[in-house]
Amino acid sequence: MAALISLAFFDNPVWNNLALILGELLLVFIAFWLIFSILMGVLIVVSIHKKQMYFPRLLRPFFTIMEGTVKVVCLILGVDGSQLMEFLIKIDNQMNLKNFSRIPVEQRVVFFPQCLRARDCPARLTPDGLKCVSCGKCTLGRVVPALNEAGYKTFIIPGSTFIKRMIKKYKPMGMIGVGCMMEVKEGLEMGRKISMTTIGVVTQSDGCVETTMDFEQLMEVASLGLSEPIRMKPDPRDK
Ligand code: SF4
Repeated sequence: MAALISLAFFDNPVWNNLALILGELLLVFIAFWLIFSILMGVLIVVSIHKKQMYFPRLLRPFFTIMEGTVKVVCLILGVDGSQLMEFLIKIDNQMNLKNFSRIPVEQRVVFFPQCLRARDCPARLTPDGLKCVSCGKCTLGRVVPALNEAGYKTFIIPGSTFIKRMIKKYKPMGMIGVGCMMEVKEGLEMGRKISMTTIGVVTQSDGCVETTMDFEQLMEVASLGLSEPIRMKPDPRDK
């Protein structure tokens, strides 16, 4: 009896029309999704090749929603995952530069990964991360004091859990995160989640010890919105 009632329900012309409309809507949605993903993929690939960003404010939110299919389109068009990640980091940075430059320097922090230190770094671990003593064995010894003098709080951190802890403790308004591409991507995502203006600077080499980075690029970003550019301390070996 119950089976007969349910059969009669699905054989109803109203239900049939509704199912037809729903099916058509689904097809339109899938077609729109595919066309839009292809357009976004093409836009990203052109932006990467021309080294120029087209419609970054439009691209970023849609990419977050359509990430899976856009990644496939980019891959088909010859852009691999790391090129795409680098491009997205650039977009995020670009969109945050203006807000970052408005933040008072005392409200800004910089997080460095510990892998930038020299292999035999004498810095001791404190509750606020590793304390650089500017021993002269790596460039952090010239960069950290310059940033601190300008008003920044700087942290050399042994792990990403430190970031959350320091943000909770010091409540900055903006941060610069240095790290490998994956760390910077995660840092930018975290910044978005907690509504903190974040700029990512990617290291030039990966690894656990003595990694390298473009410190001049960092100083340029750190100087945004300041009346004077921040300069690294002189290299003691030059004396
Ligand atoms: S300069 Fe600072 S971070 Fe670099 S090795 Fe010396 S103490 Fe460690």
